[in-house]
Amino acid sequence: MSLLSVILPSYNEEAVVEHAATVLHELFTKEDIPYELLFVNDGSTDATWTIIKKMNAKNPQIKGIHLSRNFGKEAAILAGLREATGECAIVMDVDLQHPPETAVEMYRLWEQGYQIVEGIKASRGNEGIFYKASSKLFYRLIHRASGFDMQSSSDFKLLDRIAIEAYLQLPERQLFFRALSYWLGYHQTTVPFHVQERHDGETKWSSLKLMKYAIANVTSFSALPMQIVTLVGFLFMLFSIGLGIYSLGQFLTGNSLEGFTTVILLLLGIGSIMMMSLGIIGYYISKIYEETKRRPRYLISKRTSQENRHA
Ligand code: UDP
Ligand code: MG
Repeated sequence: MSLLSVILPSYNEEAVVEHAATVLHELFTKEDIPYELLFVNDGSTDATWTIIKKMNAKNPQIKGIHLSRNFGKEAAILAGLREATGECAIVMDVDLQHPPETAVEMYRLWEQGYQIVEGIKASRGNEGIFYKASSKLFYRLIHRASGFDMQSSSDFKLLDRIAIEAYLQLPERQLFFRALSYWLGYHQTTVPFHVQERHDGETKWSSLKLMKYAIANVTSFSALPMQIVTLVGFLFMLFSIGLGIYSLGQFLTGNSLEGFTTVILLLLGIGSIMMMSLGIIGYYISKIYEETKRRPRYLISKRTSQENRHA
């Protein structure tokens, strides 16, 4: 019997953390799976940390780390993986949208020798229209840009100790847990699951946050946007050759063009394309800048092991 670490990134989840712990505790006890629950409090401003501490005082198998501020789910997952002591770890949402029974299924597959078990969304559950549309667009973009079909993939995964260590070795700041397990390889399999209703509380993803996430991830996967800039430049060149020949013909036959309007339109058109291109290039440069700073991806300010001492 080998220890399973369950990593639960939690951001302002006071409504659900206790419920999640109870459900998971009962399930793993029933299934006879040795576990630790590792709550990663991602800088919550509500009572999440207090509840985690209280749960730890009662049950030392429930542990928590407290990040110094909100670093985002990606960083929280990373922190959890680094703290996990199990021979394998499952990352799941604390709102139980990832069904706990599927976690048991993953563990059984791991016992059979799989090193990465990925949860695949068989249905997407209840999501808003904007969310649905934007995630669809997002995955289509990623698919085009990188060749991964991630329409149905999720952050719900089991990693063997070997895969955890490999993931932790990746040096880049812009990690994308969902996709990088593809990059890792190893002996993999998938399990389908149905996205559940959120147990309580509400989603932490605003539309704006989601857009930023989408852009960050597309650009961390490919340089396609920059190649588009080149393509647009090329198209514009073809267009200007055509227009040049036409204007020259007009001039030679003695009819000049409606000068002012043409100039203004061309100026505005070229100007906006140039600015957008600069924006895209600037975005990549800022990402390079971010990477070169080599800052830690999260800071831990407290641990339940320091706050509550078990005799
Ligand atoms: N989460 C986090 N940091 C954040 C945002 C979210 O750790 O900045 C956690 C959150 O507590 C939850 C999981 O990530 O356990 C998924 O978040 P949520 O349920 O809000 O997203 P959704 O399921 O709607 O995609
Ligand atoms: Mg959720």
